[in-house]
Formats: sequence, C-alpha cells, structure tokens
Amino acid sequence: MVKLRRGRHFFAAPGPTNIPDPVLRAMDRPTVDFNDPEFLAVFDRAVAGLKRILGTTGHVFLYAASGHGAWEGTMLNLFSPGDRVLMVESGYFSEAWGLLSAKHGILVETVAADWRRGVDLGAIAERLAADRGHQIRALCVVHNETLTGVTLPLGEIRAALDAAGHPALLLADTISSLGSMEFAMDEGGIDAVVGGSQKGLMLPAGMSFTAVSARALAASAKAGLPRHYFDWRMMIERRHGGFVGTVPVAFFWGLDEAVRRIEEEGLAAVLARHHRLAEAVRRAVAAWAGNAGPEIFCTDAARRSDSVTTVLLAEGVDAEAVRTVALERFNVGLGSGLGRLNGRVFRIGHLGDLNEPMVLGALAAVEMALGLAGVPHAPGGVAAAMEWLGRQGPAETF
Ligand code: PLP
Repeated sequence: MVKLRRGRHFFAAPGPTNIPDPVLRAMDRPTVDFNDPEFLAVFDRAVAGLKRILGTTGHVFLYAASGHGAWEGTMLNLFSPGDRVLMVESGYFSEAWGLLSAKHGILVETVAADWRRGVDLGAIAERLAADRGHQIRALCVVHNETLTGVTLPLGEIRAALDAAGHPALLLADTISSLGSMEFAMDEGGIDAVVGGSQKGLMLPAGMSFTAVSARALAASAKAGLPRHYFDWRMMIERRHGGFVGTVPVAFFWGLDEAVRRIEEEGLAAVLARHHRLAEAVRRAVAAWAGNAGPEIFCTDAARRSDSVTTVLLAEGVDAEAVRTVALERFNVGLGSGLGRLNGRVFRIGHLGDLNEPMVLGALAAVEMALGLAGVPHAPGGVAAAMEWLGRQGPAETF
C-alpha cells in the first residue's frame, strides 16, 4: 500500500531534478502546431539560450528521447561498423554508453579506471601515443559520472589529445554536469556533447540533444551506420534543425523559461551556488564518517562532483534501508546505487533548482534515517553543513 504523504516531497536524487514552478507553468499550455510562428519564435529563442549554456555556436540536434537516445543518435551519426572508439571508464554510465555502442558494431575499447578516483590521465596519453596509425576515431568521456560522483577534467583530457597530436574526436556526456558545473564546448575543444533535459536544465525527462563541432558534422557525412529518427542529415533539412517526427512543443516553453532563470541568476552564480551546496553536503558526510560511518565515495577531493555526492556505506550495511526510511518516514527521495554499487551506496543529488534549506532538509532526513536504520555514524552532519553555509557570502539572488 502506498503510504500517505504530506508536505512537499523533497527530491534529492541526482536527476531528474526539481522543476521550478515557473517552468512547470510555462509548459502548462494548450498545444499549438509546431509550425506556428508563435512557437517557432520560442523554439529559436530557447535553442539559442541552450547554445549559450553549452558555450557553442555549433549545431544542436534535438530528440524526443531521454539521454540514451542522445547517446544512440550521436554514435549512429558519427561512426561506421568496425570503427574503434576509446571509452574512458568512469562507472555505470560509461559502461552503458559502451554497451550501446558495441551493439551497433562499434569497437569499444575501454581505458580502465578505479571508480573511486576516476581515470589516470597517463593511461589515456599512453594509449593515444601507441595508436600511431590513428585507428581510434573518438575518445568518449562522461564528464560527471552520476553513479560515483566523480567529475573528470575535460580540459586535461583535451590536452592529452593535443599533446599526442591525435585526430580523434572528443565526445563528452554532460547529462549531469550541464548547468551545474563549468563546461564550455567550443573553448574546451569538444566535438560532440550529449545532454539531457532533466538535470541542470530543470525540465522533465524526455528531451535530449547532441551539440556538434564542424569536425563532428563533417565526420557524420561519412558515417555508415543506418539511422532514421536520429539522422542528422534529415534533421538539418527541417525547419527545426531537429525532430524527424512531431516536435514536443511544451519542452521549448519550459526550456525558454529555464534558460531565462539561469541567465537571470547568471551562469557563474548558478555554478557557484552548486559548489556552495555541494560543499555543504560533503561536510555533512565527512562528519557522519566518524564512528566507522559512511564516507564520500570519491576519494580524489579535486574530482568531487558539484551535482551529486555518492555515499558509501560500510561493508554489510544496506544502503537501501537508509533510502527506504528517508522516503517512508520523511518524504525525501534519495538516489540509489546502480549495477555493482547496488545496495552499497546512496546518492544525494544537489543540482538544479535548489537552495540552502532544501539541502539542509534533505541532510536532516538522511541523518535521522541513518540513526533509524541502525547505520553506525557520528552525529553532526547537518550542523557541519549549517556551519559552512552560514559563513558563505550573501547569495546574489536574494
Ligand atoms: N549519462 C549520464 C551521466 C546520466 O546520468 C544518465 C542518466 O542519469 C544517462 C547518461 C542516461 O540518460 P537517461 O536516463 O536520460 O536515458
């Protein structure tokens, strides 16, 4: 039986994220034809805004699909069967991206990495240097691994390609970093960027996209994998530059409002807010770590994500029990472990439309849930987060 819940549901998973009320209201409107001039104006404005957030003047192909669709569309348009790509292992999402690619006949070679630290850049450099014949067509990187809470340094990875003089395309998945962490596509020399609607962009799940450089666009003309719905050649001929079928119009009213909100706050201030809130969560987990309590999964402090903190429990302690108590007793939704981390971790999302009391509320529920689930820990996590947040500068948005 579903438990009766009262008050606001605190959704503290790392995406989908909270949708701001004005975005919901912007999307709540009667349908119009997708060739209606009123819609086309909103579409153009929203896509131009998305490009500013991506930091690109390149083309953006849009799909009525979740992030998996953007992964698939990207690979189908860039490669031919037998092409070799180098997938930088980050965790669950690099594995899933690789699996999807392999099913289409792409040869996926993995640069192995410790999930708790992320890849050793030397291993990437070494593999690129060994590829004298330039068989590797692309380097695929999940910028922010949503399962582990580890962010990879895209700038340093770009530098490794440049240092090796290797022509491989650089592909980045920004699904859980765009709009919450520093990212600049053109400046960063990224050739194809996979993104989704449901995290930093604060929209419902169901729309995703690939932004492409001129090099990627040129590569797509030679790609031999069959595609139809995702075919960039068909899309580019359409008025919308995307959508082989019906355009999900409501998303664009939502995206237009989401971009307006981000730019009203200022992208730099949005990123600073994410960092401030992420640091509060990290301090809370660090406090709980006493008494053989839970710890931050990512062991490299410089790579800790500002959009999600993954919390590792001691061997034999069930992370799902904490999630269940948080949801059933306190109406707080946390992210679960996935794949090999199932039951070993829970995840606290801190991205999107979020402020200090929302984070503190979620942390208080976690701290209580740890106690109620009988998980060893030290108290004082919420107090540590409050102490940190209380001495940060005034938020510009107040
Ligand atoms: N890549 C990353 C980094 C993600 O976090 C996710 C989903 O959470 C995906 C890809 C897959 O996207 P979707 O679940 O929207 O299909």
